[in-house]
Amino acid sequence: MKVTQVLAEAKETIISFEILPPTKGKSIESIYNHLNPLMEFNPAFINVTYHRAEQVFKKRSDGNFERVEIRKRPGTVGICAALMNKYKVEAIPHLICGGFSKEETENALIDLDFLGIKNVLALRGDAAANEKFFNSHPNGHRYAEDLVKQIVTLNNGHYMEEDIIDGAKTDFCIGIAGYPEKHFESPNMDTDIYYLKRKIDFGAHYVTTQLFFRNEHYYNYVAKCKENGIMVPIIPGLKPLTNKKQLTTIPRVFNIEVPVELYNEMMKAKTDADCEQVGTEWLLHQCRDLLKNNVPVLHFYTLGKPQVIYNVLKQLF
Ligand code: FAD
Repeated sequence: MKVTQVLAEAKETIISFEILPPTKGKSIESIYNHLNPLMEFNPAFINVTYHRAEQVFKKRSDGNFERVEIRKRPGTVGICAALMNKYKVEAIPHLICGGFSKEETENALIDLDFLGIKNVLALRGDAAANEKFFNSHPNGHRYAEDLVKQIVTLNNGHYMEEDIIDGAKTDFCIGIAGYPEKHFESPNMDTDIYYLKRKIDFGAHYVTTQLFFRNEHYYNYVAKCKENGIMVPIIPGLKPLTNKKQLTTIPRVFNIEVPVELYNEMMKAKTDADCEQVGTEWLLHQCRDLLKNNVPVLHFYTLGKPQVIYNVLKQLF
């Protein structure tokens, strides 16, 4: 079922999760072990992230170095198929522009369509590990809006090869990313929302947000989106803070604020268990407030400590 349909039929706030493919060498069991306890809460869908190849230097036997491409977390599409099969849940693969030519994107979409996948999250992706700024594939897309356009084109049955007439229409529901604290490359929130609106005008159906620790960021963002004519569902992304190291890594990686109250509580924590308790209580408080405000979905980034999310959900439902 499409996310938009799930949301239209939902009588109350629904639950969803995001997972990362395991690092290469680990089995699908690591995903099941991660998700099994969380399935108790009947998520309506599970997102699976996509990780582009990285270029690394490897030492050859002659002592010289050569540049090779490696993918540390392959398996997005396979995991989606496995989750749909095992849990009978909608799986949402993330699709990125980075590293993909338009033709490779089209072929990836055909694979997803043949697997019966009805939803995709269309993203630009970040700069490759060895690059400072995002560079698109020479024959790929520069912005997520171009990827959205390509998916819509395929939904209309138009393929890149012009001699394909009466092409089968795909039927993807298209999610996109939004940033309650602004995307880090955007000069200001108004500009960021202008480009968000373009993605929707080109055919995206809903927005999933970057994580945030202060709900006011989300509420203000939703209000500003509405003021700018964005009426699609905006799904809040949530993640617990579970250790002191994240006080510096999370702002750096996700370009978001750690509120001073949360920072102070975390700094007072003495043990790992104390840190997790602080993170659990903060997330619980965020969720209670979001539920009171009738958000369509509580979408949890489960990386790291799924048991914290389990404990929060157990106290909520
Ligand atoms: P875009 O919408 O293309 O925006 C990128 C920047 O360009 C923004 O500053 C925007 O304002 C600006 N912009 C957009 N269109 C234009 C235009 N036409 N002209 C000029 N400026 C423009 N990354 C991964 O690699 N894999 C994942 O699985 C993944 N999952 C994610 C899931 C969520 C919910 C979120 C919020 C992010 C995820 N990311 C993922 C990270 C994401 O790829 C990065 O944040 C990336 O830097 C931006 O992606 P985007 O789709 O928002 O890009």
